Amino acid sequence: MTTLNNPIFQDENKAREALEAVRWPEGPICPHCGNSAQDRIAKIEGKKHSHRPGLYYCNECQGQFTVTVGTVFERSKIPLTKWWQATFLLNSSKKGMSAHQMHRMLGVTYKTAWFMMHRIREAMHDMKPGPIGGEGKTVEADETFIGGSKKNRAYAKTAPKKMHVMSLVEQGGESRSFHVANVTAKTLRPLIVKAASRKSHLMTDEGKWYQRVGEEFASHHSVNHAIEEYSRKVGELRVSTNAAENFFSILKRGIYGTYQHVSEAHLQRYLVEFDFRYNTRKITDGERAAKALKGIEGKRLTYRPTH
Ligand SMILES: [Zn+2]
Repeated sequence: MTTLNNPIFQDENKAREALEAVRWPEGPICPHCGNSAQDRIAKIEGKKHSHRPGLYYCNECQGQFTVTVGTVFERSKIPLTKWWQATFLLNSSKKGMSAHQMHRMLGVTYKTAWFMMHRIREAMHDMKPGPIGGEGKTVEADETFIGGSKKNRAYAKTAPKKMHVMSLVEQGGESRSFHVANVTAKTLRPLIVKAASRKSHLMTDEGKWYQRVGEEFASHHSVNHAIEEYSRKVGELRVSTNAAENFFSILKRGIYGTYQHVSEAHLQRYLVEFDFRYNTRKITDGERAAKALKGIEGKRLTYRPTH
């Protein structure tokens, strides 16, 4: 899947098969009873014309299912081809894509586009993210803020609220971003030690909130931005917060350029989106879209029928 010519964007059967491949790499799993024994699951196809394509029968519970049963795809009634289109578009644009643009490109209502994008962001959310860094690895911690300036909002009369973001970025590796109420040692420390292995070397600026937590790491170095110091070598280590700053630069171009305004209630969801694209930057847009849709497992996007 590298271009919009891919049949999964136009052909509902192909879109369903692609979703099956993503959700069930080892073969279908019954959503009613959890049975995954392939000799106890039969494909019902071609026997009767009335059968929906992609219908399976579970010998364990005598239930029928398709890949969309119990997912947001079934409830939303939006064609799978549109879900693939939306996921691909959101994943192939470095700065994200607004719901308005998605609405125009997909030919769905704005409300539907907005709904789809938030569901895709939920799918991008890594439920059990491992810590970044580790022995011999270097993690940069840095903070920035989103909003707070009138110039970033076309019609704002008053300056919108400043929202703080702290990101941890492993040099050459992944990012973990957090919306934090304020920037203090007390707020940042639990997030830092959970998201980054303390076996790592920690790089920060001179912020006093990093001093204590820095002592918990293999080593802690800081760059002094006040004297325009941005990067230096200490042995094999690169003392810098450039990786974190590059991440913030993409984040801000996306939030101000694409999304224009992000409310405090939704900021963390956008951070998930930008982390996800950053962390999958070495794979293709198509692979990234597939990985995003695979994330529907275990989210609000799936649900068990209450029968
Ligand atoms: Zn079953």
